[in-house]
Amino acid sequence: MKNAHWSNWSGGVTCAPQRVAMPASEAEIAQLVREATQSGQRIRMVGSGHSFTPLCATDGLLLSLDRLQGLVSTSAPAGQATVWAGTKLHALGGPLWDHGLALANMGDIDRQSLAGAIGAGTHGTGPTLGNLSTQVVGLRLVTAAGEAVDCSPTAAPALFKAAQLSMGALGVITQVTLRLLPAYHLHERTWVASFAECLAELDAHIQANRHFEFFWLPQNDLCAMKALNPVELTPAEQDALPLIKEPRANDQPQGRLARYVRAERIDRSYRIFPSERTVKFNETEFAVPAASGPECLHEIRRLMRTRYPEVAWPLEYRTLAADNLWLSPAYGRETVTISVHQAAELPYQPFFADVEAIFRNHGGRPHWGKIHTHTSPDLAALYPQWAAFQAVRRQMDPSGRFLNEHLRALFGA
Ligand SMILES: Cc1cc2nc3c(=O)[nH]c(=O)nc-3n(C[C@H](O)[C@H](O)[C@H](O)COP(=O)(O)OP(=O)(O)OC[C@H]3O[C@@H](n4cnc5c(N)ncnc54)[C@H](O)[C@@H]3O)c2cc1C
Repeated sequence: MKNAHWSNWSGGVTCAPQRVAMPASEAEIAQLVREATQSGQRIRMVGSGHSFTPLCATDGLLLSLDRLQGLVSTSAPAGQATVWAGTKLHALGGPLWDHGLALANMGDIDRQSLAGAIGAGTHGTGPTLGNLSTQVVGLRLVTAAGEAVDCSPTAAPALFKAAQLSMGALGVITQVTLRLLPAYHLHERTWVASFAECLAELDAHIQANRHFEFFWLPQNDLCAMKALNPVELTPAEQDALPLIKEPRANDQPQGRLARYVRAERIDRSYRIFPSERTVKFNETEFAVPAASGPECLHEIRRLMRTRYPEVAWPLEYRTLAADNLWLSPAYGRETVTISVHQAAELPYQPFFADVEAIFRNHGGRPHWGKIHTHTSPDLAALYPQWAAFQAVRRQMDPSGRFLNEHLRALFGA
């Protein structure tokens, strides 16, 4: 029989799995894992296939949890919900809202699955907020032996610490328990500033807003700025959502930026966070110490203006709180993430390689789901808990059932 064909979102990663399975229960997952183990087949899991790196690629069994979606249970007083791991983020906001709950932060899009998003360390922006994996307080996974185990800060804590961000290397995550906030509305302000203005006011914007990010637009050297903040609404205002506001004088940023204010809107948080990405691209992103962010940005801007003036895709600049997850790019340090993009149909290798060299000089850690060339020796030097993660991985999956070529190179396995 001819193998299936699989491709990721950008089309940059393809593979031909022997089998693609969409189990509808945890028992079915355990059975599939046992069968694969008996027949010596390797296993990879896929969420929405939005990673740009070959994390999901396999010629063995490709497992999708698309049929395991939705809330398992919620507790508004505890601010927690347990969710099937295959749940798409765009299908999570509404049901959580109905229980008075919401995610503390989200990335640029909401197309990912929950397990896939935490699997590669998906994050949004905000200096007080960690990536999505930091919001996880409990996990259930099916191990290489085909057994379901629960882990949390109190039950199997070392496994939990490793599994919170593990690229599907420890087993099949079936359920995720999340720490959530009471449902809230967000006020979004977007405006355009010159590069010099953006940089002059960068620290102030990062400190003044719960979420601040900007896109530097290389073709005209302007910055598209975005600030989000929680806002209290009256019942009448809630009925009128989304509220699209014309800027009023006292709502505007002060100083020279005022003339560039463009748009404001207010809506439920899960409707404000995500944007649509209709044009396909490839992307690389690194996490650098927050203090290095501006210098790193200057260097990449110089590189793009001198060697790659034809690249029209914007650079994105975001912030992340320090955390303590073993494989988190924000491990132990306040972080700035910088990403650059190239159209999916155009070559990106020389451009991304030159950008990566700049990131390397700043101690950058690659986003696991975005293109990079780091391998085990580089990564061991960047992650203080690298060996601890590898020890848990070897214990959970001694025969490398969940590894593919890409993960072998990452882990040195
Ligand atoms: C248009 C676009 C916008 C993006 N925006 C952002 C952003 O704002 N911020 C950001 O940080 N990233 C962003 N990304 C990257 C993206 O969030 C991550 O790559 C994320 O992992 C994709 O989720 P997914 O469900 O597609 O996961 P996949 O790419 O399918 O899988 C990711 C990892 O999770 C593992 N996995 C999936 N399901 C399971 C499971 N059940 N059990 C165990 N492991 C599992 C996979 O094996 C793989 O290792 C973006 C990507 C695209 C294409």
